[in-house]
Amino acid sequence: MGPVTTPRTAEVVICGAGIAGVAVAYHLAVRRGMTGVVLVDERPPLSLTSDKSTECYRNWWPGPGDAMVALMNRSIDLLEELARESGNVFRMNRRGYLFATADPARVPAFLTAAQEAAALGAGPARVHRTASSDYQPAPERGFEEQPTGADVITEPALVRRHFPYLAPDTVAVLHARRCGWFSGQQLGMYLLERAREKGVRLVEGRVEAVDTTGGRVRGVRVGARDGAARIATPRFVNAAGPFVGRVARLLGVDLPVFCERHAKVAFHDTLGAMPREAPMVIWTDPVRLPWSAEERREWAASPEHRYLLEEFPQGVHGRPEGPRDSPVVLLIWTYDAEPMEPAFPLAFDPHYGEIVLRGMSRPIPALAAYLSRLPRCVVDGGYYTKTRENRFLAGPLPVEGAYVLGGLSGYGLMASNGAADLLADHVAGRPLPRWAPAFRLERYEDAAYRALLDAWGDSGQL
Ligand SMILES: Cc1cc2nc3c(=O)[nH]c(=O)nc-3n(C[C@H](O)[C@H](O)[C@H](O)COP(=O)(O)OP(=O)(O)OC[C@H]3O[C@@H](n4cnc5c(N)ncnc54)[C@H](O)[C@@H]3O)c2cc1C
Repeated sequence: MGPVTTPRTAEVVICGAGIAGVAVAYHLAVRRGMTGVVLVDERPPLSLTSDKSTECYRNWWPGPGDAMVALMNRSIDLLEELARESGNVFRMNRRGYLFATADPARVPAFLTAAQEAAALGAGPARVHRTASSDYQPAPERGFEEQPTGADVITEPALVRRHFPYLAPDTVAVLHARRCGWFSGQQLGMYLLERAREKGVRLVEGRVEAVDTTGGRVRGVRVGARDGAARIATPRFVNAAGPFVGRVARLLGVDLPVFCERHAKVAFHDTLGAMPREAPMVIWTDPVRLPWSAEERREWAASPEHRYLLEEFPQGVHGRPEGPRDSPVVLLIWTYDAEPMEPAFPLAFDPHYGEIVLRGMSRPIPALAAYLSRLPRCVVDGGYYTKTRENRFLAGPLPVEGAYVLGGLSGYGLMASNGAADLLADHVAGRPLPRWAPAFRLERYEDAAYRALLDAWGDSGQL
């Protein structure tokens, strides 16, 4: 079924058919029985940012407060429901996030993080200090009946038994358990199909203007190849991804959001350096890239390349992608994110693939076999659209009938259902969950919240 001709009226027009807009359409039409829902996108659904993701999920989020953990728990509950009812069409697993370190000084931080996460509602902390401890590994497939919270293993022999592919000097791991990955595209298509069955219409075109005569939403002008059309509507949801700020300005509203470019690398691990059943592996130590003596001399002599000899920040991570017989491994490392204006198509650092592969050979030394002859690395990515404290925006805008769901940063797939469920409650005038205030735009008007922002610690970004 292709896009439909532009209807003249709608109960709600949603701008953007990325995962945010699609999930809002689903939660309004399927779960709240709303009719007259129209999705407008100038591109094919899910094709701008939502298909560039690493597709991972976690309930592992820092404070202050428990809003992020509560929202993500709700979102993962919904993802699990959708996986069950669909026969797991989007292949959700529960392999966990495995944070690893070779630095004994970091072990107390692992223990504290597990305790803090437990206090925020992520699930209990289990510490394994001996080789005979009853640590339960994650299954390769499925998500049912798995532990929540985190296992911290501080006995290197136990680390080696379960994760023999990690660097031999790894001293501890933290395995966060209500985490894993799924196919974002399959999830998005499933939500879109269910929404269309309940009457949601997908219109191809660009939202060019929003009529707010008299201070409230009255209509939306949609430009398409064959001309412009007006949809009369009392409600408008801005779910425009990296253009959420631009679309808000059509309403005369400035949103406190910015974009950062983020890329991932995919390559064929023909040597099987990363086991197919591995969890998401995250190295929590800074890394110096491995180079030959000759390469080191060359980089040292070149001002443009000297940074390659410097210490890179902690956080290089990766995971196997696809079924057991797939050779694909995904790697990602954010070492140079800067705020920028979103522009397409994106260009990436030509060295990114090599840098990430070299970095990931620190936690997984078998990857070093590729360094003398690099495999073909496919690099793609998109923008993280962020607020200052990396918490998204879901709620009404200061124009009656206008709403936003944006700023979903690097977690929009995992948050999609919790965030859309929350926004749908706002739109449908239903009672709101207790975490709603943490995601409203008005939070920035609160002096106490602004003071909190100035002292904000970890934003939870990997
Ligand atoms: C490299 C990378 C890795 C990531 N990894 C993860 C991960 O592991 N887990 C996770 O949960 N998330 C991850 N993310 C984040 C996730 O992909 C995003 O948060 C999410 O896709 C944002 O969805 P969205 O619907 O807000 O935006 P988009 O997918 O960008 O959708 C916005 C849509 O709005 C449309 N639009 C904009 N303006 C207009 C207009 N005026 N008229 C009509 N249409 C308009 C666009 O065409 C687009 O289709 C990652 C992102 C990147 C880049």
